Amino acid sequence: MIISNYEVLPGKNATLRLPVASLPSGNRVNLFAHVYRSKKPGPTMLVIGGIHGDEINGIEIVRRAVKNGMFRKITKGSVIAIPLLNIYGFINFSRGFPDGKDVNRSFPGSKKVRLPHVLHIP
Ligand SMILES: [Zn+2]
Repeated sequence: MIISNYEVLPGKNATLRLPVASLPSGNRVNLFAHVYRSKKPGPTMLVIGGIHGDEINGIEIVRRAVKNGMFRKITKGSVIAIPLLNIYGFINFSRGFPDGKDVNRSFPGSKKVRLPHVLHIP
């Protein structure tokens, strides 16, 4: 499985830091994706919290599931867990993005969008 330019092989797990934006101060805004892969092939499950920045329960649920190692026990396939997707909305305690876009209405997205690079966190 390749996410941006980083490959996670079967039987391996990884935490990826995906740079998605920069603030006017120059600070980067990163999205964290926890990737779990079984050695056995199977479907991939995507678990996302914080699609709407003012709905914070899901963020904590996904964060705790990652922290408690829930996805390390998978026997087939893969799991990608993203505790907080809509970082701007979370910071501003608003449902959507600053431009009013509702992330939940943006799936499946576009293959043309490419992130600049992925940083692997050991
Ligand atoms: Zn929602």
